[in-house]
Amino acid sequence: MEELEKLRDEILTCKRCHLAADCMGPVPFEGRASEIMVIGRNPGDTEDEYGRLFIGRAGKRLDKALWWMGLKRWDVYITNLIKCFTERNRPPELGEIFSCSQWLKMEIAILQPKLILVFRNDAWKYVSGNSEGVTKFAGQLVSTRDDLISAGMVYKKVQFKMIGFPHPSAALRTVKWDRLLNEAALKTARIISEMQSVGYMEMRNDPA
Ligand code: SF4
Repeated sequence: MEELEKLRDEILTCKRCHLAADCMGPVPFEGRASEIMVIGRNPGDTEDEYGRLFIGRAGKRLDKALWWMGLKRWDVYITNLIKCFTERNRPPELGEIFSCSQWLKMEIAILQPKLILVFRNDAWKYVSGNSEGVTKFAGQLVSTRDDLISAGMVYKKVQFKMIGFPHPSAALRTVKWDRLLNEAALKTARIISEMQSVGYMEMRNDPA
């Protein structure tokens, strides 16, 4: 999609906030223009070094979770709430989210996703507008309103549904998060299948 390619170039050269000065540079989205969008919080140190999203062990764990949903990585569009690495992988501050979420809003406006899979508690809170975390909502389908406003995020007239998940790296650390991620992935497989059967979503799942 030409608009997305143009946006990628703009993101790659972004210096809108101070985070760009303390990392290798913004890490843009990956994958295809899909009806399913995956959102994480921000690149970790390995992602920063290689300029790729969800690589290393966490990336493999994401692939496994997607597989449980009946998806492959290249079936989906993958991005982050924040495009730059934060020192010591600290949570982004509100000002940083305000600056960088402008990119995410543009991505959503262009892509018009039907379903957004949000990985990580704080990313979930910002994107969904829910003050309660992903533990409560993992694997549950949540709908947006016409105008969802949360922590500076505004999705004007873009309707989508979303599901929250613990982050793959958390699942690698503790059994509790691992189990929660698997359960949520299985529930999501059923949700996607239902969405496809009622014609809400026409997923392409052929190789890119
Ligand atoms: S974090 Fe986002 S807004 Fe800030 S410099 Fe990186 S890409 Fe630009």
